[in-house]
Amino acid sequence: MIRRTKIVATLGPATDSPETLDMMVQAGVDVVRVNFSHGNVALHRRRIEAVRACAVRLGRQVGILVDLQGPKIRIAKFAEGSVLLDAGSCFAIDTEIPLSAGTSLEVGSEYPDLARDVLAGNILLLDDGRIALQVKKVSGARIETEVLVGGRLSDNKGINLKGGGLSARALTAKDRQDIQDAAALQVDYVAISFPRGADDILEARRLLAEAGGTAGIIAKIERAEAVVNIHEIIEAADGVMVARGDLAVEIGDAEVPAIQKQIIRLAGELNKPVITATQMMESMIHSTVPTRAEVSDVANAVLDGTDAVMLSAETAVGEYPAAVVTAVHRVCMAVEKQPAMCRSGHRINHSFERVDEVIAMTAMYAANHMNIKAIAAITASGTTPLWMSRIRTATPIYGLSNQPIALGRMTLFRNVFPIAVEIDASDAGDIQAMAIALLIDRGLVQRGDYVILTKGDHPGVHGGANVMKIVVAE
Ligand code: PGA
Ligand code: MN
Repeated sequence: MIRRTKIVATLGPATDSPETLDMMVQAGVDVVRVNFSHGNVALHRRRIEAVRACAVRLGRQVGILVDLQGPKIRIAKFAEGSVLLDAGSCFAIDTEIPLSAGTSLEVGSEYPDLARDVLAGNILLLDDGRIALQVKKVSGARIETEVLVGGRLSDNKGINLKGGGLSARALTAKDRQDIQDAAALQVDYVAISFPRGADDILEARRLLAEAGGTAGIIAKIERAEAVVNIHEIIEAADGVMVARGDLAVEIGDAEVPAIQKQIIRLAGELNKPVITATQMMESMIHSTVPTRAEVSDVANAVLDGTDAVMLSAETAVGEYPAAVVTAVHRVCMAVEKQPAMCRSGHRINHSFERVDEVIAMTAMYAANHMNIKAIAAITASGTTPLWMSRIRTATPIYGLSNQPIALGRMTLFRNVFPIAVEIDASDAGDIQAMAIALLIDRGLVQRGDYVILTKGDHPGVHGGANVMKIVVAE
C-alpha cells in the first residue's frame, strides 16, 4: 500500500545517529527540513550529507528543504535570565537599554524599529502568545505596556504584534548569507520565513538564482499580511507552508483551521504544493502515542488535500523520532482509504492553455474512470506530475526522470513517487519498454495491468509532454 501524503521531518540533535535516520526514512520520511534558525553551516552540511548517504543506502529519493530563520523579532536578555510578570503590572520594552539588563520592569530588543511599529492600544504577544502586553504609551524608543496575561518570561523570547503590522523585511542579512549556503548545498527547497507579499518571494528567488541555486521557493504563511496577500504569494512561490505556529499568534489560534483550508484549496487551484506544519503530533516529543486530537489534526490536513504534513520538534528534539513518523504514516494511510479521497471534481470546468497540462488532465481523467494500476510520467522538469498531483485519485503517479532537480522537487508532491532513470534521448522508442520493465521489476505493476504513460516526443525538453498512452504491461 502506498501513502500519497508526504511526510516532512525536521532534523536536529535527536536525528543525528545514522541508525535513527535510517529508521525515520524507512518509516516514511519523504523530505527532511534543515532549520537554519539553529546551528551553523558546518552542522547543516554534515546533516545534509548524512541524509544523502542514507537515501543512497536505502535506495530512496529524499528531498531536502532548508528553512531560513527570517526576521523573528525578539526581546533581549534579563540580568537574571528570566522574570515573573504579574497581570496588571507595568512593563516596558525599550530598544535603547543595554541588551542584557532586563528586569521585571523593562527589557531591551535588538529590533530598532519596534517602537515605530506599535501604537497605544496594540497587543504584543511574547513567547508564542504565552504572555500578552497591552501598549499604553510609546515615547521615543520606549514602549510602556500593561501586562494582560502574565507568567515567567525568559531571555530572547519572540515578539509578535497581534493582527500583524511589524515592518521587518522578510530577508535579513543572515538569510541572505544562508541563501548562498543553501545554493552551494544544492538543496531541493528553500523556505522563506515571514514573507509579507510576493516581493519578498521574488527577491529570495533572485538571490538564490544569482548564487546558482536551483531550489524551489516555499513561502511560509505566518504573518497576518501574508494571509491578505495569499494569492500573489502562492503565484510567486513554488509552494507554500501553513506555518501555524507564528500564524496562530498573529491572527489568533481559532482563525487558523479555516485559513488552513483556504490556503490548501488555493494552492491546489494554482498548481502549487502545500505543507501543513507545526504541532501536528506535539505530544509525541515525550510520548510514544499521539493524542486523539493530534490524530484528527493530521487526518483533517489530509482530508483538506495537503501535499505534506510536517514534523518539527517531534523529530528534531523528540524522544521517538521514528515512532512519530510511523504514527503520521498510519493516520495518512487510514484517511486515504476513504473513497472521497480518490475522486476529484477539481478543474473539471477549466479550459487549459498548455499541451502538457491537457495531457496531465487527460491522464487523470482516464485513471479515474478505468482500472489503471499506475501512471508513469516521463518528465524533465516534474511539471506534468505536478499538474497530475492536484487531482485526487487512487492511482499512484511515478515520476521518471534523469534530472536531479526534478527528482528532488517531486519528493514533496502528493501521490508522486520520483524514480531516477537513465534516458537516452537518441532512443526515444525504447522509453516505453524501459518504463514498463522498471515498474514490473519493482513490483509496482504486474503483467496484464493497465498503465498510463505520458511523455514528450523529444525526451529532455521541459514542458514538452504531448503523448498520453494506455498500455498493457508486458
Ligand atoms: P518555525 O515556522 O517552526 O520556523 O517557527 C513554522 C511555524 O511558525 O509554524
Ligand atoms: Mn514560524
